Amino acid sequence: MDPQAAATGTRRLLRRLRDVMAGAGSAQERLDTIVRIIAGEMVAEVCSVYVLRAGDILELFATEGLKREAVHQTRLRVGEGLVGVIAATARPLALADAQSHPSFAYRPETGEEIYHSLMGVPVLRGGRVTGVLVVQNRTRRHYTEDEIETMQTVAMVLAELIASGELVSPEEQHPTEGIGLLPVRLEGTCLNGGLARGVAVLHGPRIVLRHVVAEDPQQELQRLRAALEAMRTQIDDLIESSDLQHGGEHRDILETYRMFATDRGWIGRMTEAVRGGLTAEAAVQKVTDDMRVRMKAVSDPYLRERLMDLEDLANRLLHQLAGRATTVSEAELPQEFILIARSMGPAELLDYDRRRLKGVLLEEGSPTSHVAIVARALDIPVVGRISDLLSKVEAGDLVVVDADHAQAFVRPGEDIMAVVEANLRARAVQQAEYAAMRDLPAVTVDGVAVSLQLNCGLQIDMAHLDRTGAEGVGLFRTELPFMVRNTMPTVDQQQSLYAAILDAAGGRPVTFRTLDIGGDKLLPYLAHGEDENPAMGWRAIRVSLDRPAMLRQQLRALVRAGNGRPMRIMFPMVAEVAELEQARAVLGLEIERACMRGLRPPEPLEVGVMIEVPSLVWQLPALLKRVDFVSVGTNDLAQFFFAADRGNPRLAGRYDTLSPGFLRLLGEIAAQATAAGVPATVCGEMAGQPLEAMALVGLGYRSLSMAPGAVGPVKKMIRSLTLSPLETFLRGLLDSPDHSLRQKLLGFARDHAVDL
Ligand code: PEP
Ligand code: MG
Repeated sequence: MDPQAAATGTRRLLRRLRDVMAGAGSAQERLDTIVRIIAGEMVAEVCSVYVLRAGDILELFATEGLKREAVHQTRLRVGEGLVGVIAATARPLALADAQSHPSFAYRPETGEEIYHSLMGVPVLRGGRVTGVLVVQNRTRRHYTEDEIETMQTVAMVLAELIASGELVSPEEQHPTEGIGLLPVRLEGTCLNGGLARGVAVLHGPRIVLRHVVAEDPQQELQRLRAALEAMRTQIDDLIESSDLQHGGEHRDILETYRMFATDRGWIGRMTEAVRGGLTAEAAVQKVTDDMRVRMKAVSDPYLRERLMDLEDLANRLLHQLAGRATTVSEAELPQEFILIARSMGPAELLDYDRRRLKGVLLEEGSPTSHVAIVARALDIPVVGRISDLLSKVEAGDLVVVDADHAQAFVRPGEDIMAVVEANLRARAVQQAEYAAMRDLPAVTVDGVAVSLQLNCGLQIDMAHLDRTGAEGVGLFRTELPFMVRNTMPTVDQQQSLYAAILDAAGGRPVTFRTLDIGGDKLLPYLAHGEDENPAMGWRAIRVSLDRPAMLRQQLRALVRAGNGRPMRIMFPMVAEVAELEQARAVLGLEIERACMRGLRPPEPLEVGVMIEVPSLVWQLPALLKRVDFVSVGTNDLAQFFFAADRGNPRLAGRYDTLSPGFLRLLGEIAAQATAAGVPATVCGEMAGQPLEAMALVGLGYRSLSMAPGAVGPVKKMIRSLTLSPLETFLRGLLDSPDHSLRQKLLGFARDHAVDL
């Protein structure tokens, strides 16, 4: 059959099916009519529809040609029989001699033994199999590509009927891969720890198809072309926007988009589908579904990424066609929800209502991605890098995010929920215990006080000061407000932010760290260029000194925000004292400038540096004479000390910060700072972990800055610790050749009743 005739045939069939769908009768009656029509049009003796039910079961729901009594009786598991194979592989199957196929499963109640050939296609919806449509013939018939194509198109109509929930309830509808309504455990990478449960909400929800069959194919073609054109213009505009003029990651992504948006094969397949009688939306959906199925077989990561791009484009196209925005409206959000996304930006995360958003699951993302940083600031558990996440979770599913164990449970069973609920209750009790300690001092049993401070990065973090009873902000990462915006904040905008932070601190000290960008923290509006080794590349103070205008603006904003109030400013990633001096000179200029204008600079203004680069440890005598305080950034210090990239998952856990070598280094810094009378804080992740914090206090640190969630556990540890035996114990260990002192420190804590 020539393609034109095939398209006409498909269109006629689709129109007949549309009339049935729009007509009267129950869903079952319509399904019965549909199989009769398909059998006739496809010139097949048999046409049957199997619907996927809970527990991975394909149930015969309607048939023309097989014995009637088999309907709702014949059931196959996914993978069982030819129908099961079609569901399991999500691919069409056409066999002239079906019975000799190794997977053929004979079901006597159907009377199918007389039919030799079989052709079946999966009924797909949103990339998942929801049923199987089959035709059979007595003769050994060779089904053509066009016939398979027609069946696939027809299957889309069935997909809508199944999705309507009239045949089987929506709760029962079953995704592919043997997942269905069965609980699924997903594994990924912990991007922010914690435990949460809630109802799944898809970020950028799928468009629900209202009409599958085109009333007027010509008009549908025009709609498709117009939507493609609008989408291309949108992408062109993005690329041409001045922010992206200088290339870089974002531009590359969009260039790839543009390439795919004009992909002839992709557009051709969608056009064909419209010619076959589908609406523009259904055509986009069909081509995307086909692609998703093919994607499952692709192992090459580059190709997979590119196919993902196409899927993303298809989604944009669907939104264009529907003329709809991509986010869920506030009113539709459940009281407690878990956000499900392939990836998302930090600003998008902030768009959701913080009180209802309990956790996030991502297909992509790394611990240092922006969205992870913001989630950490908001204390939302996040698990990332979950493969095929979007094809495993449906909106409305109950989801548990167990980020502490880098896993999630979708549609968890009662046993899992019982454990999770118990765990959440225990956490609530623990939280109440921490809350009760809020106003108690962080003092050891033998009377040594330790100042506990917060690491913050967004204005909303400031509420944690009151909640935790922390003494101040030990590290305010000023880059976060820069990262979540699309343009560089002006001096005025920065000034009002910093002033608001000081207001919120209500007299408690705040240590502002100047921009630590570069490395993994890129600003969309700043050209960073390619760094071979970004962690050791052009970042933090290096960028600030090379782009003094940016540093000056930030210091100007800080100085003005101070307005006679106390303030602490520190510089990140300083590798030599000379860099501090240079930065200080810029600060001096800004203070002078403020005074000349009759403004009041901060009073007192304390200036410090972060010790993150080992070279600085060998300049401590010179450094400590020139600073009011130091803050040890153990995250970076450890990565440079061990020459081990902090973002590389293959190195995670390879070296321990509780190793004798690293603790010796930290002890040396504490000793020299104490001798020089310069306060030293630790503000890396170590400070927020009770065992590590115990070691730090043992080494002489009296100030620790940490994420809000860590204050309670660390305070509890300190209040149960007797310091002097720990100091002696530690001194005896620093020469040990061990990989780590973790076990020994745990033993100490156990023996001395330290509450970890
Ligand atoms: C550190 O390096 O320890 C630190 C606190 O800075 P950041 O994690 O922001 O690099
Ligand atoms: Mg750092």
